Amino acid sequence: MRRDKRVQFVTSPLMETLPHVYHGFGMRSKETPSGIVFPNQIHGNRVVVLDAPVPETWHETADALITSCPSLPIGVRTADCLPILIAERDGKGVAVIHAGWRGIALGILPETLRQMKGHLGVDCRDIYLAVGPGIGACCLEVDEPVKEYFYTHDKRALWEACTYPGRAGHWWLDMKMMAQRQAMEEGVKREHVDILPYCTSCESKYFYSYRREGLAAGRQVNYIVFTSREL
Ligand SMILES: [Zn+2]
Repeated sequence: MRRDKRVQFVTSPLMETLPHVYHGFGMRSKETPSGIVFPNQIHGNRVVVLDAPVPETWHETADALITSCPSLPIGVRTADCLPILIAERDGKGVAVIHAGWRGIALGILPETLRQMKGHLGVDCRDIYLAVGPGIGACCLEVDEPVKEYFYTHDKRALWEACTYPGRAGHWWLDMKMMAQRQAMEEGVKREHVDILPYCTSCESKYFYSYRREGLAAGRQVNYIVFTSREL
């Protein structure tokens, strides 16, 4: 991938410890670095596994991608939703997830980890996971229908553990804590989960925020790629 100097990225110190993995969580920019494969995101829970290289023009509907192909950068675009990057320690593969509260309630994170186990034969104890800039509990106020959605999708315990009461009939929702909890429930070690501190809504000078800017908001580019250990 050609690294576009016009796009600035923040990175996870934890993910940086994996020598064969390259990643970035993009900041505000009109530019998109070339060479990254993106799914057509719809806030669902479909996970696609790429076990052979695809061209940059590839465009299937999904909110998570997994690849076992070295040198195939995969990415998601976000503005408030969580970009989640995943890598297997020894280079069996990487994954990327676009997760808003709907995706979390639909279980896209555990589903991605299960497919990494099933297709790549990874052990979740060897998984490293980084949650990038997204809207924090400081700014994500939700109402009754959101609570209903979690309850309907059998996520009552997750809801109760990761929300705080606000105004009458409203709650503050901590998506990052939900992601960490779901990862650990699948067997990912706590010390292998990195939650970046940035709230896209608080720090809208640096990040696009759908809540703050509405439909006009741009999207951050987030990507991950690994090289085979022979390189
Ligand atoms: Zn905030």
